[in-house]
Amino acid sequence: MRKVIFVLFILFLTTAGIISYFSSPKDSIQGAPAISTSEESVPSGVLSWLSDWSRPDLPAKVAIQVGHFKNDDLPEELKKLRTSDGASAGGYDEWEVNLTIAREIENLLKADGIFVELLPATVPEKYWSDVFIAIHADGSEDTEKSGYKITGPWRDLTGNAESLISSIDKYYKTDTGLSLDPNITRNMRGYYAFSWWRYDHAIHPMTTAVIIETGFLTNSSDRAFLTNHPEISAKAIYKGVVEYLQNEKLI
Ligand SMILES: [Zn+2]
Repeated sequence: MRKVIFVLFILFLTTAGIISYFSSPKDSIQGAPAISTSEESVPSGVLSWLSDWSRPDLPAKVAIQVGHFKNDDLPEELKKLRTSDGASAGGYDEWEVNLTIAREIENLLKADGIFVELLPATVPEKYWSDVFIAIHADGSEDTEKSGYKITGPWRDLTGNAESLISSIDKYYKTDTGLSLDPNITRNMRGYYAFSWWRYDHAIHPMTTAVIIETGFLTNSSDRAFLTNHPEISAKAIYKGVVEYLQNEKLI
């Protein structure tokens, strides 16, 4: 009898675990989409074709990617992310918040005569630009969590991501008043759009890229800031990009 009760108890725990796994809102609150640990390093031998690469003789080119925007259009190789809708809270979906900020950055750069492309979740194949910024907003079940995060790819072959991060971080911190959240996730550094060795629809390895979680959509104070003052968030990112392009003598 004891054995039967024990087995029933284990069955109950297993069932409860499965139900809670599938019913928990992980997908709706995560930041950047998940990626496996096997993608943390680039396969050896893949880099030889890069040795002859040189920057195209073009004016400075900036890409602003709107996180989760038009997810449904993601290609077959990324179909698992079609349902990755990002954070949602307070009546806002993450992509809307990302899009407003991204459009504002685009306007500011265009006003300076800088070439800029706004990209949805789908990145054109082997996409190259001098600067690629993925705009996201964070989410957590813990509504006390607040602040922004910024990082680059696991392996930055351009060697410039840290410089771009440092310029954006400086302005973002002072202009937004948000604090830097140091809890960078594997989802961010292993962002699918950075994973050029795995996906065709990803950046070219010589694209300097960063991903920024602009604040927590699930935190009432961060959300109020992001939805009431997207222009402040956008201006800070814009200033960082311009500083970086100047440092690199691209403008
Ligand atoms: Zn996101």
